[in-house]
Amino acid sequence: MKNIPVAIVGGGLSGLYAAFLLEQKSIDYILLEARTTLGGRIVAGRSHEHLNSEHQSSEPPNSKTIKMEVTDSFDLGPSWFWPDFQQQLGYLIEELNLESFAQFEDGDMMVERSPNESPIRTQGYKSSPPSMRLKGGMAVLINALYSRLDSTRVLTGQIVRRLTNKDDYIELASEDSSGKIMTWQTQHVLLALPPRLAENSIEFTPALPKDMAAQWRETATWMAPHAKYFAVYDTPFWREQGLSGEARSALGPLNEIHDASIMGGSGALFGFLGVPAEVRQSVSEDVLKAHCRAQLERLFGAQADSPKMEYFKDWSQDPFTATTADANSDGQHASAPIAKATSGVWKECLTGIGSEWSQQFPGYTAGAIEAASFGVQNLPESPESMLQDKVSARSNLPSD
Ligand SMILES: Cc1cc2nc3c(=O)[nH]c(=O)nc-3n(C[C@H](O)[C@H](O)[C@H](O)COP(=O)(O)OP(=O)(O)OC[C@H]3O[C@@H](n4cnc5c(N)ncnc54)[C@H](O)[C@@H]3O)c2cc1C
Repeated sequence: MKNIPVAIVGGGLSGLYAAFLLEQKSIDYILLEARTTLGGRIVAGRSHEHLNSEHQSSEPPNSKTIKMEVTDSFDLGPSWFWPDFQQQLGYLIEELNLESFAQFEDGDMMVERSPNESPIRTQGYKSSPPSMRLKGGMAVLINALYSRLDSTRVLTGQIVRRLTNKDDYIELASEDSSGKIMTWQTQHVLLALPPRLAENSIEFTPALPKDMAAQWRETATWMAPHAKYFAVYDTPFWREQGLSGEARSALGPLNEIHDASIMGGSGALFGFLGVPAEVRQSVSEDVLKAHCRAQLERLFGAQADSPKMEYFKDWSQDPFTATTADANSDGQHASAPIAKATSGVWKECLTGIGSEWSQQFPGYTAGAIEAASFGVQNLPESPESMLQDKVSARSNLPSD
């Protein structure tokens, strides 16, 4: 079996960016992604009327369909980035020639304070620095990175189940949807998934150092408890009334609403559900959507009651993002746990690079970029030479 210098577990932003950097350094790698699609928490919802014949479901697109249809997609995961202070991500977006624009915030906002009061219209405010969106949605970033990779090194539908430290190499076992197990030999594993999920869902032999495992387990996965709802309309009609599309509500089910319109395309509003994950589970998606539509009608008028398309994504129910602990957490940013063991057999051969491991921006897309580049920069000089070092260290041991 071929011994691959680096194996990346996860094909979200951090995993794909690590792959992009490894290719620049001419280091061989394999990337294994559990889902059938790339992007992880970056997921595009797109409208049926814009789909081409190869993709007729409301499922998130795979990387090939991202390539074909990028202009009318809605960010079911992250929407914003802040290049003014997230410079590494900002430079990458420039390098990849991706177009960005500021979140629409012109006009008044709506506020619902209590069940007994009608919604009030009040002066809106502008974020400073502005929250930026990518033209075509965040999926264009995933597509741009993937299109620069050797696609034969990127495998989807491979759930990594086990990492076994065999001293000279790591044996990695992955499982596909038919239950078929594949094994890989590698020198270094980059864990490009949330720390809590890695600790919870991958079996490590021997076990990870106790203090590191505890830190990973206690690190909340950012936004994992949340759900997003989108309503798509022909035009952003609220703008004609001088409204920004922004709203806050103490009533719900949406507690924070924003304009999500496509530049020169459909109008759209999106909101974060204020209803806790466990309560959401006791209600059907249709009922939740009906409540969201009724709320948008209260806030933005009768037109808001008839979206031409709706999207709903509950991240707390996605097993490749959230664990049970995430579903019940408050969703705050955790500080970054240690990314590498400081002693023991896992010390030089395993690094956490998912966004929660970022020192500066834990949980954010910018964090995925920071953690991935830190992980790649700090790989042992040559994973092959590491193998040689281990072999010679062992051959120097006295035989018994
Ligand atoms: C609703 C929501 C809104 C957000 N809004 C913003 C925002 O506005 N701005 C911002 O900066 N950030 C935002 N974020 C956070 C942002 O999405 C993340 O920081 C970023 O996408 C994380 O990338 P990642 O590669 O580190 O992890 P992920 O995107 O979680 O990727 C991990 C990958 O690993 C895969 N995987 C999991 N288990 C296995 C396994 N056993 N084997 C193989 N593969 C596995 C997963 O399928 C996934 O593809 C938001 C997130 C959500 C959910």
